[in-house]
Amino acid sequence: MLGLMQEVPLSIPMLVRRARDLFPDKHVVSRRPDRSIGRAPYGDVIARSGRLALALRALGVAEGDRVATLAWNHQRHLEAYFAVPSMGAVLHTLNLRLHPTDLAYIIGHAEDQVILVDQVLWPLWEKVAPLVRVKHVIIMSDGGETPPGAIDYEALLSGSADDTFQFDDRDERTAAAMCYTSGTTGRPKGVLYSHRAIVLHTFMSLASDSAAIVERDVMLPVVPMFHVNAWGFPYTTAFVGATQVHPGPHLDPASLLELMSTERVTMAAGVPTIWLGILQALDAAPGHWDLSAMRMTLVGGAAPPESMIRGFKQRHGVVVQQGWGMTEMSPIGSVSRLQRKHDDIPEHEQYHQLAKAGYPVPGVEIRARSESGLLPWDGTSMGELEVRGPWVVREYYRPEDPITQFTDDGWFRTGDIVTIAPDGCITITDRSKDVIKSGGEWVSSVALEGALMGHAEVFEAAVVGLPHPRWSERPFAVVVRKPGALVEAPALKAWLAERFASWWVPDDFAFVDALPKTGTGKVQKSQLRDTYRDRFAGADEAGAAHPPAEAGA
Ligand code: AMP
Repeated sequence: MLGLMQEVPLSIPMLVRRARDLFPDKHVVSRRPDRSIGRAPYGDVIARSGRLALALRALGVAEGDRVATLAWNHQRHLEAYFAVPSMGAVLHTLNLRLHPTDLAYIIGHAEDQVILVDQVLWPLWEKVAPLVRVKHVIIMSDGGETPPGAIDYEALLSGSADDTFQFDDRDERTAAAMCYTSGTTGRPKGVLYSHRAIVLHTFMSLASDSAAIVERDVMLPVVPMFHVNAWGFPYTTAFVGATQVHPGPHLDPASLLELMSTERVTMAAGVPTIWLGILQALDAAPGHWDLSAMRMTLVGGAAPPESMIRGFKQRHGVVVQQGWGMTEMSPIGSVSRLQRKHDDIPEHEQYHQLAKAGYPVPGVEIRARSESGLLPWDGTSMGELEVRGPWVVREYYRPEDPITQFTDDGWFRTGDIVTIAPDGCITITDRSKDVIKSGGEWVSSVALEGALMGHAEVFEAAVVGLPHPRWSERPFAVVVRKPGALVEAPALKAWLAERFASWWVPDDFAFVDALPKTGTGKVQKSQLRDTYRDRFAGADEAGAAHPPAEAGA
């Protein structure tokens, strides 16, 4: 027997209509490349989106066609977020930090028909353009000459000065957006988000145990709009009528802090690297920026160190909430929040708890597997995390490499190595390709990095496994000191030895000015492994290392 309720499609126009009808006077704020601030009410932004949709249609964009963007976070990018899926086309956000040849591969693979490019990114586009074929190039500029062959965004919109676009429902199963994985191994893989997945992800993000965005929030997504739909925040924020503040290309700590302070931002989101920089700036100038409106910042994309979570709260009153997710998961999979039972544990244990990836959000199911099968939720058995849910990828878009990431019963293999506690709390110990196996035993690079970043003189740290003649691999740490700090390897070894079994302590350290990062701000461990590959090649076979058998651990 079928239910007798209305079958309203879960499609992006539903989100846009609500912002248009209920919150036409709430604002979208953008920092332009020249640092000036632009403000527009949702009513205008959505009217412009409607015009963009009509103009794209007039250019020949048909249902299912891919429309790419090469852009920072700002109002016009948001207009494309609303317009392109609402007209039945697919918004393909391009990662502007990728190499031109990678961008060309992705544009070719997705068969993008039209591309919208920021004026400040035109030099990048000029490197990509000769390698691809797209029908129309639209430049989003704030003045100056339109390059030959390009269409000016504002001219395009005023050419379609017609407010008849209706934002009608779409088939919820159709594709709304696409994003390619960062692809540190193999070719980047395309993830094709359906309207339904994005809308359900939006509802989940509003839950109090998730991101819990409300109308009165002022949301600053530092996470780029080219990275998994800025974690869905442009849609989530519009749906509840919260103010959006977009930082444009100015992502340095001082610019972000100024924006947070002057716009009275209540909530922000970004990767740990950004927040480490912000914490350092705040510590260097306490009281300089007014963050009294901030109620929380969501940090994810890599593990935020416990010391950072503690530092923000204790020294600056800012709550850091961790989220774990993936491009393949739209992206939010888990959120770290204290539960009622944690009220009674000591404060330092609460921070320890918050440094874990946390509990799966409502709608996402989890399990972990090792070679011997599914693992118990005992908080110690380590294996690969598998997930299932309505906003989790079912298959990649036209994959070129063999895909082994789906189980026979349709779960997605995340590639993250975890333990799951009896209460369902996830702890990420490593990415499977980054695990360190010393003398046959796993060493968690994430745990070591978190501890190193808790040292007063360490700004950032990465730990990788390097080939070792006796133990097959040994941990090696690459450290960025805080400005003026002089800490050396012996002190850091002693620091770690107080916290971990002796055989976990890295055999050696390198000190560098900065860690290599991927286009989405994660440490590029493959590059570190390549750079230091032979570091232990000549190590004494007896070795100073103490894997468990020797250490009796
Ligand atoms: P991406 O698809 O680029 O967003 O990368 C997803 C990967 O980032 C995950 O599979 C994890 O390895 C890592 N990641 C994301 N969030 C976290 C987190 N909170 N803690 C640890 N790793 C994370």
